[in-house]
Amino acid sequence: MSRQYKIQSLRGMHDILPDQSSTWQYLENTIADVLAQYNYRQIRLPIVEQTELFKRSVGEATDIVEKEMYSFDDRNGDRVSLRPEGTAGCVRASTQNGLLHNQTQRLWYSGPMFRHERPQKGRQRQFHQVGVEAFGLLGPDVDAELLLLTLRLWRTLKIEHAVKLQINSLGSPNDRKNYRLALVEFLEQHKDKLDDDSRRRLVTNPMRILDSKNTDVQALLDKAPNLADFIDEDSRIHFKGLCSILDSAGINYELNPRLVRGLDYYSKTVFEWITSHLGTQGTICAGGRYDGLVEQLGGRPCPGVGFAMGLERLVLLLEDLKVVPNDAIGLVDIYIVAVDSANTQAMILADDLRTEYPSMRIESHCGGGSFKSQMKKADKSGATLALVLGEDEVGSGTVGIKYLRKKDPQQTITRDDLGNLLDKFFND
Ligand code: ATP
Ligand code: MG
Repeated sequence: MSRQYKIQSLRGMHDILPDQSSTWQYLENTIADVLAQYNYRQIRLPIVEQTELFKRSVGEATDIVEKEMYSFDDRNGDRVSLRPEGTAGCVRASTQNGLLHNQTQRLWYSGPMFRHERPQKGRQRQFHQVGVEAFGLLGPDVDAELLLLTLRLWRTLKIEHAVKLQINSLGSPNDRKNYRLALVEFLEQHKDKLDDDSRRRLVTNPMRILDSKNTDVQALLDKAPNLADFIDEDSRIHFKGLCSILDSAGINYELNPRLVRGLDYYSKTVFEWITSHLGTQGTICAGGRYDGLVEQLGGRPCPGVGFAMGLERLVLLLEDLKVVPNDAIGLVDIYIVAVDSANTQAMILADDLRTEYPSMRIESHCGGGSFKSQMKKADKSGATLALVLGEDEVGSGTVGIKYLRKKDPQQTITRDDLGNLLDKFFND
């Protein structure tokens, strides 16, 4: 048969290789631990949903639904999409399963999301988020709780110094509608100063123009009507309440009146955690309140607030700041080398040690080969110790110890003494 061409992964969809996965595990475990501290519970959601779900929640005129979704007809002809974000599915699941009926819920989920965007550093087509949602709580206290939670996470990960918090209030949907009219009216008068992107958004999603990176557009926006002047009393009190909790808790934040977020469902509080370490893809965590969304998706009215963090960007930041602890990297501790005739004993010794030392990483050499080649592999594995079972050792019930990371001479000890040696060696 002629050699087949190699099939490659899709553009913007990356493998997470073994050398990187320990950082991922460290990050994911740390997040799960912090979430548990606040009693948020995990919900596991499907990756594929009806396209209609995202149209009705994220919004028809958003970039995500307009241009970025992976949508297709399945074999029954149903229109379905790979989820571009998690809140819609979480609300769908919570409503469908009665989780929101006369009760509050604090939930989180984790997994891949899909958006057909232009790939670049910190921006992929398959990326991973951890999302956190709190349902049934109206006040700003739970908004503040989410921010305390994220701050604790940054502290635990030792990245607090590299991130800052921006917050804003979008008011009620009605306030936004009024503001949108005023904004459009203003921008229509200065259409000549808008770039193509902003001109397009003037029709589809004018609030997104506030996000524009174009400096001319930004200069124009300085003279535009201010969203803060449009928000109602209720939203104002809510936002003041949030700021006052953050002040009392000593949390630093910036008010960013142009922070609007790209999805339709937000109301009142919105926020982003931003870093300057990742270039233009600097938002590592973003969210806000979405009090109308449950109803919009057919549930009984129920307030909600949540956020999602981008794990790729967090991994990049952890790497950039070199803050992943060494013991999170998961290097092998012991490598077991054996002559062919001692293969089985070596297997059993390795497994006994795994019972005695559950937290140790032990690799058995499999596949035979000369001592020399086995020792080479032991060294390359990164293990600190090699245990050697040669013919002599098997005959005398002993084990050879070779220190791979220091110059101490090889030793031979009895199987009984092995425990003492390991206790001492790995506890020092
Ligand atoms: P951005 O402005 O960077 O496009 P967004 O507003 O579209 O972000 P959200 O939908 O709020 O992002 O998603 C929350 C987080 O998920 C982002 O802050 C980011 O960390 C991450 N994220 C979003 N899109 C991508 C992507 N294409 N690749 C990697 N991470 C992403
Ligand atoms: Mg985006």
